[in-house]
Amino acid sequence: MKTGKNKRVPMDDQVKEEIRARADIVDVVESYVPLKRAGSTYKGLCPFHREKTPSFNVNQQRQMYHCFGCDQGGDVFSFIMGIEGVDFITAMQILAKKVGVEFEPRQQRNKDGIDKAILLRINDELTQHYHQLLLEDPGAAKARQYVEDRKMEPETLKAFMIGYAPEAYEHVIAWGEKKDYTKKQMTAAGVIRPRNPEDPSSDAYTDRFRDRLMFPIMDELGRAIGFSGRVLPGSTHPAKYINSPETMLFKKSRVLFGLDKARSPIVDQRKAVLCEGQIDVIRCHEAGLTHAVAAQGTAVTEDHARILKRYADEVILVLDADTAGQNAALRAAHHFLAAGLTVSAVDLPEGEDPDSLVLKLGKEGFLEHIAGAKSLLDFQIDLLRHREDAEDEAGQMRIARQVMETINQADSAVQRDRLAQQAADRLNISVDALRSDLDRNKNARNRTQRNTAQQAQTSPEVAQQNGPTTHYPQQEVTLVEILNAHPETVEIAREFLPPKCFSTEIFRELFEAILASDQTEPGQFIPGLDPENQELKRLAAKIEMAYRSVGEELDTPTDAMYGAMIQIWRNHLDREVKELKGQQQVNPGDVVLGQNITQLIMAIAGLKEARLATDWEKARGVFEMFGD
Ligand code: ATP
Ligand code: MN
Repeated sequence: MKTGKNKRVPMDDQVKEEIRARADIVDVVESYVPLKRAGSTYKGLCPFHREKTPSFNVNQQRQMYHCFGCDQGGDVFSFIMGIEGVDFITAMQILAKKVGVEFEPRQQRNKDGIDKAILLRINDELTQHYHQLLLEDPGAAKARQYVEDRKMEPETLKAFMIGYAPEAYEHVIAWGEKKDYTKKQMTAAGVIRPRNPEDPSSDAYTDRFRDRLMFPIMDELGRAIGFSGRVLPGSTHPAKYINSPETMLFKKSRVLFGLDKARSPIVDQRKAVLCEGQIDVIRCHEAGLTHAVAAQGTAVTEDHARILKRYADEVILVLDADTAGQNAALRAAHHFLAAGLTVSAVDLPEGEDPDSLVLKLGKEGFLEHIAGAKSLLDFQIDLLRHREDAEDEAGQMRIARQVMETINQADSAVQRDRLAQQAADRLNISVDALRSDLDRNKNARNRTQRNTAQQAQTSPEVAQQNGPTTHYPQQEVTLVEILNAHPETVEIAREFLPPKCFSTEIFRELFEAILASDQTEPGQFIPGLDPENQELKRLAAKIEMAYRSVGEELDTPTDAMYGAMIQIWRNHLDREVKELKGQQQVNPGDVVLGQNITQLIMAIAGLKEARLATDWEKARGVFEMFGD
């Protein structure tokens, strides 16, 4: 067993020790948490729990950390695993990069033998290539003119590796073939696509980006994982921006444009600036706001909020001044509050975005404008006063109601209390009245949580007593089966079905495991499940068994998925109505409550009609309205 013995001394162990030797824990921790020297150790606020006085200790000599508040502790590797929320191998990669050690983990492959390392290489090399074309290619003359007209500085083009995708159908295909990349690999990297998506047997491919100004999108480590391409003047293409599709690397619900550059400035100030588009971020960085990032025009998600929370305590929203932008700001704010961040917002003059405002006011003027950020509540109240008739009683109640909803998102009681005081001042109502309304809302929330917990406990028993015919909600079963059998439907569910819509804990867990597994083939979510939970594993096995029939029966899995999703939403909204009606019995005079109920009932009626994918737009409106 000589070979076996050799295998037992893996290279990874050596690399691990090499990294450990080179990475100083104080440096590593300090790139996330400000530390102060206190005798032989360093102290700071614990990044793993919320605290006001520092109980987080780093011992340089022993290269260990420990928090006396929450009892977390370990070495550099466990610190990175905890703070970045990654597995051990990824933590090694992050540290290897920081300290300059070569480390290529054994590669993660999907079923086509495509591994992440190749996708990263394709994105990286194409970034360089597009950039070179922008600088030098005769065909890029008009793109060069465009960046000049938009006053992008040459250093900026380099710092953000801005590029140009030529006006050709097979430029990238030819480029990649010369480098021995297969079409499969380039498709998986998102840089080319099948010419005819309806016909998977067809072998014709085309470049994804043509005649566009290219912004590479980097992950937190500064590796290119995708692109956003902007149309150039004179093009007739209808989409102003085209982005990479979801790939093994590029998950738009998680990626924040500019974070690789903004991360360290964010940590220094414990503040981040959130804007809407790439050019806005770039302009902010030029103006000296190097802690700016963007969710790239998509809605801010819980994941975005969680990621920023690792580095910042406060987020300043600088979103477009139109109604859509303002509503987006409020929705984003809810996620940030729930993640425990303080939120403020900047009013931009009508029709301006950060990019245009820097050009108009100059860098200094722009920075001054940003310094005038308002607290979130001031921003919201000013906005609502503009929209509602604040003199009118019902209008006032609607304002109070919406402000209360915002406050309720905050995750800490201290923060809720502080916000309530601020709101009471601004709205001219007594803080006691506001607080008691807040409590009532919160109790209602807890009640719902208890009910679902109870259901989750009882249903497995019911299931077992009744033998094979279980009492799990049929639509939740169907949905999870489809998602498992048809991984291509997962991204739609991720976008439009918040886990709160499930009526049972157990299916919510299965759903979340599927989302978390990034599965490219059925069954990949199973290893991610809680191994202690027998019931969960039994169900997972059953769902995995069902995949064959689901896989063969459905020729339109996406439609079937929409159908199940709409039904789950309806059931969820039905439960909400019930809950609110219960509250109404206690407070029969509550006008706002009545309005909310009516609104929900109308939404449910809308969903009843939107059974088919052809009515998808209607359903989607409801989802977006009640999704947060
Ligand atoms: P520009 O200043 O070049 O017009 P912008 O950032 O001001 O760009 P917006 O229309 O405000 O453009 O869009 C904000 C962001 O939304 C963009 O940066 C882009 O990330 C995203 N976006 C805009 N249009 C689309 C689209 N059609 N498809 C996908 N993403 C888009
Ligand atoms: Mn703009």
